[in-house]
Amino acid sequence: MPQKMLKSAHYIELGSYQYWPVLVPRGIRLYTYEQIPVFLKENPYITDGYRAHLPSKLCLKSMFILSNETVNIWSHLLGFLLFFLLGVNDMSSVLPAAGASREDYVIYSIGLFCFQVCMLCSVGYHLFCCHRSEKTSRRWLSLDYAGISVGILGCYVPGVFYAFYCNSFWRQVYLVTVLALILAVFSAQIHPLYHTQEWKTLRSAIFCSVAGYGIIPACHWVWLNGGFHAEIVQAFFPRVMVMYLLAASAFLFYISKVPERYFPGQLNYLGASHQLWHVLVVLMFYWWHQTAVYIMHYRHSQPCQEHSGGNIGSVG
Ligand SMILES: [Zn+2]
Repeated sequence: MPQKMLKSAHYIELGSYQYWPVLVPRGIRLYTYEQIPVFLKENPYITDGYRAHLPSKLCLKSMFILSNETVNIWSHLLGFLLFFLLGVNDMSSVLPAAGASREDYVIYSIGLFCFQVCMLCSVGYHLFCCHRSEKTSRRWLSLDYAGISVGILGCYVPGVFYAFYCNSFWRQVYLVTVLALILAVFSAQIHPLYHTQEWKTLRSAIFCSVAGYGIIPACHWVWLNGGFHAEIVQAFFPRVMVMYLLAASAFLFYISKVPERYFPGQLNYLGASHQLWHVLVVLMFYWWHQTAVYIMHYRHSQPCQEHSGGNIGSVG
């Protein structure tokens, strides 16, 4: 290897025995947990591979090097691409083939747009969290949190729309309350203490209640449809359960810092809890999108009955 290359090669530790040579662009180096600024110290079990003190241009460049954020950045960049392509596929073939109405198009667009916004906010945060200015880093963190709320909204809108397809009164009630909840979270995020350690529990509580609120319309929907024996409930309810299972496990990884808590320093680059959280979030959104396609087909094949009230005239 030429002398010049040797100089810029940075050896990183992968696990306890593997060493990978990584070529790092000039101006970027990787730091250990002890070396990084306090505002980046969030997870002591990730001991190495940190980027820090970078100007915007080098933050962007750093997406092509192997750091402890590489998987975080690329998982949601690929997630963005997935939901973008799903959108193109929905608009060009799935919806036309299903004889979709204008409302179907609007609901799908809102849902997929929210997922894409969520993915991009996350990519932005993981790219620019290592910015030399703490203020900039914190702004990106706020945007990441805001993106999660937008992602949750993207799950609620198609869910409520198709679940209460034949009952426009309750559909409006739940859509408006969900919107109000998300707006309330946004206004809480403006509070200067929101991202501090003291508010950590409150922050988790707010997100859990926004996500958990969905249990209310879900139970109401089961009851309106005549309980667990109804055909539509049996078809759709297990899918809602899988959704909540994915969400709960994603959140558990996120807050517990498992598995790196048990293998400190071994999962710096691959297999850390935040990476699992990222992958599970993509999986969750994808699952919910497929569920929306499923229930839309069901709704189109089984038109609303008159007595269910608020019939909006389904497309048969
Ligand atoms: Zn993240």
